[in-house]
Amino acid sequence: MKLLIVEDEVKTASFLKRGFSEAGFVVSVAFDGVDGMRQIQTGGFDLIVLDIMLPGTDGWHILTWLREAGLQTPVLILTARDEVRDRVKGLELGADDYLVKPFAFSELLARVRTILRRPPVREASTLRVADLELDMDGHRATRAGQRLDLTGREFTLLSLLVRHAGEVLTRTLIAQSVWNMNFDGDTNVVDVNLRRLRSKVDDPFPRKLLRTVRGVGYVLENPERN
Ligand code: CA
Repeated sequence: MKLLIVEDEVKTASFLKRGFSEAGFVVSVAFDGVDGMRQIQTGGFDLIVLDIMLPGTDGWHILTWLREAGLQTPVLILTARDEVRDRVKGLELGADDYLVKPFAFSELLARVRTILRRPPVREASTLRVADLELDMDGHRATRAGQRLDLTGREFTLLSLLVRHAGEVLTRTLIAQSVWNMNFDGDTNVVDVNLRRLRSKVDDPFPRKLLRTVRGVGYVLENPERN
């Protein structure tokens, strides 16, 4: 079982790494939010232990981004904050469990094992809009049965648009969700990537799905809703 620990406190992180390794897990550690997201993208982890207060980007953002991207990897939030509204927020954002510091490692281990025993959630493993189909488990996209050759980032971008089909997404929101960055108005990277995505998703097909809303952002049309 592969575990990712996202925790900026070096002592806590190494304590957790040692404990889980001794319990038979393969453990990776990220000391900040940006590295955490990078590892999640390349990882194939069975579970993520996620601290909330992190340098770079916080745990709330990582959790939101993870679920927006359609990844169902179980997440256990580990945090010093002991407030009911934080617990509720964590669970609403799609966390599987929540543990407040300080904690006993035996309790953390027991909770992790409980989560891993649950059958995986299979909801929304395929997203569809018109003849566009996204296999969220296999990270494959097809249109009219034809495989689309997308990079990991393009797949994330397309899945964001598909999840919000029919809604106009601003460049800023896209930049934050896909690149986890604040662009301060310079969202050229979004336009460049949208153009590239469009060349793969729309250009070869007669019916266009991606529409530019001038001065605002982009929308993936949902013909069934129009
Ligand atoms: Ca922290």
